[in-house]
Amino acid sequence: MWLIYVIGDGIAGLSAAIALRRSGRGVTVITKELHGGSSFISKGGVAAATSIDDSPQLHAEDTLRVGDGLCDVDAVRYFTSEAPVVIEKLTNMGFEFDSDLRLEGGHSRRRIHHKADETGRALMEFLLRKAFELGVNIVEDELTALQVRDGVVKGFVTRERGLISNVDYLVLATGGYAYLWRYTSNPPTNTGDGIAIAFRAGAVVSDMEFVQFHPTIATLGNETMLLTETLRGEGARVVNEFGVRFTFKYHERGELAPRDVLSRAIYMELMSGHRVYMDLGGIEDFERKFPGVNDFLRRHGLGNKDWVPIHPGAHFTIGGLRVNVRGETNIRSLYAIGEVADTGLHGANRLASNSLLEALIMGFNLPRYIGEPWDGPRLDDGLMVTVKLRDHGPMMSIGEVRRVNWEYVGILRSGDGLRKAVDLYEQMNVAVNSRESNAALVSYLTAYAALLRTESRGAHYRVDYPSKDANWRRRIYFKVSA
Ligand SMILES: Cc1cc2nc3c(=O)[nH]c(=O)nc-3n(C[C@H](O)[C@H](O)[C@H](O)COP(=O)(O)OP(=O)(O)OC[C@H]3O[C@@H](n4cnc5c(N)ncnc54)[C@H](O)[C@@H]3O)c2cc1C
Repeated sequence: MWLIYVIGDGIAGLSAAIALRRSGRGVTVITKELHGGSSFISKGGVAAATSIDDSPQLHAEDTLRVGDGLCDVDAVRYFTSEAPVVIEKLTNMGFEFDSDLRLEGGHSRRRIHHKADETGRALMEFLLRKAFELGVNIVEDELTALQVRDGVVKGFVTRERGLISNVDYLVLATGGYAYLWRYTSNPPTNTGDGIAIAFRAGAVVSDMEFVQFHPTIATLGNETMLLTETLRGEGARVVNEFGVRFTFKYHERGELAPRDVLSRAIYMELMSGHRVYMDLGGIEDFERKFPGVNDFLRRHGLGNKDWVPIHPGAHFTIGGLRVNVRGETNIRSLYAIGEVADTGLHGANRLASNSLLEALIMGFNLPRYIGEPWDGPRLDDGLMVTVKLRDHGPMMSIGEVRRVNWEYVGILRSGDGLRKAVDLYEQMNVAVNSRESNAALVSYLTAYAALLRTESRGAHYRVDYPSKDANWRRRIYFKVSA
């Protein structure tokens, strides 16, 4: 029997564990925090072309358009054609999506499968129940290092258990790192551990400059909630304090513009001294359709006829460990699935509701590939940058990393700001295995890639290079110097 460990109990980790268990394999899930990742709080839903006026081809076209020239076309074809299959699989397992399909920004069809406005919670509760029924062992502990010999992962280290060796396969499902910006929709677990730890051990990372900012986050009191894209699909409007729908100045689709455009529009409106709100008044049957948002508003003494103050924040990290659609990294026997991975599906910008989809497909399909000859990711003719990790010097607190990233590696970037961030991170000790060091390392790679990419594309916007440059239609990869 193979010894297989999955790190992370988000939607990617759980679907992998369930699928592995169902195919007769033993598996243990190790997670920093039960219910810790983004999956549990994800809102809108899962994109899949299942209606008669839709097709995987149309879903692929939308994904490619939003991805702005950097999608891996084969990955897009794979995930969009597997999408209806995974919806059917979940339904056959007993999960009930609501019967209507919703529309989100960037999609040309209604194809968002959802459970009211708490899809992530509903899916996670369902998958956790399934995992326990199947006897999947889930333990709380934290991955701190990998043991790699001759290009093959042999074991790993956790905070509580120390070295676990003789591992046949290790599946990283540790999520992204969008918590590392001062304003964010992400939970504190998401600080890039998996990416940093595997990078130090020799894994190639890619697309780190592409950080997606969500345009509509509400912070009321001490509580932050993402106001899902589907609200806008159902008729919510974004207005300034005068009730002006200023977003049409930036994009013909107004509130339904791609996220990056809308995030910049709202950020610029805020920076120019205006206040920005979401007006939910036009949504019919609001309480039934959006019970989660409704409860949130009530908790803070508001209703859907009030305007809700909103701001953008870091939401999803497109970059990560370079993998093929099977999840294979360049380190043999080391898989990465879900947000920790970069398959190229999202290109320079992620189409809404494509990430739960990617995580589910990678998780559920994993048993198909385990034990097959190892392909590893295809590295196209992008720019490969080798970096040396500084193993001495100070450490930056996670709070400070969040401040630096928001200020210099945020929604509107400039060469000067990015240079400052790179210089700061270059002073830090990023070679040790600690949360702070992991946070500084992934931020360093993000700032460095953003500095190198002298153009604006997808989620990456440079005020000093505001246009797209055809010469930059290529990826930036990083690897650690030997
Ligand atoms: C508010 C919000 C709403 C969203 N809405 C949608 C949506 O509607 N549709 C959509 O497609 N996407 C949405 N997303 C994005 C989507 O939720 C994520 O991309 C997806 O859930 C990632 O799943 P994952 O399993 O890869 O990672 P996560 O769910 O983030 O899970 C990561 C897991 O890894 C664990 N972990 C991390 N580091 C370690 C370590 N060192 N050791 C052990 N364990 C570790 C964490 O505890 C956690 O359990 C949303 C995200 C947010 C934040």
